[in-house]
Amino acid sequence: MGAGPVGSHLAKEFALRDYRVLVLEKGEVGRPLKGTGHVSVDIFDHVPKDDDFVEKEIRGGVFHNRFGSYSFRRDEVTSYVLDRPKFDRSLFQRAKESGVEEVREGFVNCKHKRGKVIVETEEGTYETKILAGCDGPTSDVRVSAEFEKPGLFLHGIFTKQIEVGPIEQDYVEVFLDASKDFFGWKVPRTESFEYGLAVELGGDSRKALEEFADEENFHIADIHSGLIPILPPEKTTKGRVFLCGDAAGQVKPFSGGGLIYGLTAAEIAAEKIDPDDATTLSKYEAKWREELGDEIKFGNRIRKFYKLPFFLRAPFLWAGKRMSKNAHMDRPSTLLR
Ligand SMILES: Cc1cc2nc3c(=O)[nH]c(=O)nc-3n(C[C@H](O)[C@H](O)[C@H](O)COP(=O)(O)OP(=O)(O)OC[C@H]3O[C@@H](n4cnc5c(N)ncnc54)[C@H](O)[C@@H]3O)c2cc1C
Repeated sequence: MGAGPVGSHLAKEFALRDYRVLVLEKGEVGRPLKGTGHVSVDIFDHVPKDDDFVEKEIRGGVFHNRFGSYSFRRDEVTSYVLDRPKFDRSLFQRAKESGVEEVREGFVNCKHKRGKVIVETEEGTYETKILAGCDGPTSDVRVSAEFEKPGLFLHGIFTKQIEVGPIEQDYVEVFLDASKDFFGWKVPRTESFEYGLAVELGGDSRKALEEFADEENFHIADIHSGLIPILPPEKTTKGRVFLCGDAAGQVKPFSGGGLIYGLTAAEIAAEKIDPDDATTLSKYEAKWREELGDEIKFGNRIRKFYKLPFFLRAPFLWAGKRMSKNAHMDRPSTLLR
């Protein structure tokens, strides 16, 4: 369910194991724009590199707060900025090439019946052995199958500042004081800079972006936004239904990045789940938590620092300066090494 990056990747992984896979998608793949697409180099452990969707190679970062700035630089590429619509479409294309069938219909509800799941869409009814809810942060599968919601939602908002001529900057900037709940970012793309920030759901993200624009002197043109689910619910499997990706809150709480955790969980699902044996869903639950659970918990501790009064956030910059050279952006626990 859902042809976002996680749903497409999961569908492809199951199809490669010779299962018949049907993807239900209610919208246009890659639209609306789902996020910045800033990912560590590990992304290419999950999908083959394709220059078509890599917009920028990143070699460093600058962290700002009102007391100063801290920057780091590496010789090698540390992360990439992806063109999200192209990335999402490429994963969907790979799924179809692996034999996945697609239906452009919106999911409405599901129920268990005699060892199967009956799925109702806006147009018809389907029967399946296993239903995967990869339908994003507001997951209709999650609601219909009565799973708990992720513990917290952020609202991310961003705008693009088109520049004249190609952008040379090859580092990302983080503004630790741009939001009272999170941080702001400036990310170089091919011909534009993306400025964005996140606030906790219920906060005024538009006002925060306007204040950020005044501070950093950028113009708010087009606005994109979306929810970022933080903290997975207690359970992500129930009977023959499971959640994966944003639907399951498999997101880095300290950065809002969900691509690598979601793709990782999709691979674990395909490895552990045998659609003929519903008891194997618990193996998926156990394994993804073993792989990502501690990093999510540790990442959430870091996120809580963003909520401190501004003058108490200064230690962040201090910590940044002492950050281990080997710290990994997907594994916050490496900061302690
Ligand atoms: C502002 C912002 C910035 C971000 N920046 C980054 C970043 O830099 N790096 C990073 O790694 N992550 C980032 N993320 C997070 C990232 O976008 C998500 O983690 C990622 O999109 C999750 O993929 P997914 O496939 O689980 O869900 P989605 O991408 O949300 O895909 C879900 C799919 O399900 C479909 N769907 C939903 N409901 C139904 C239904 N009822 N019936 C049928 N289909 C349905 C949707 O149309 C969609 O195609 C950001 C998010 C936001 C909001």
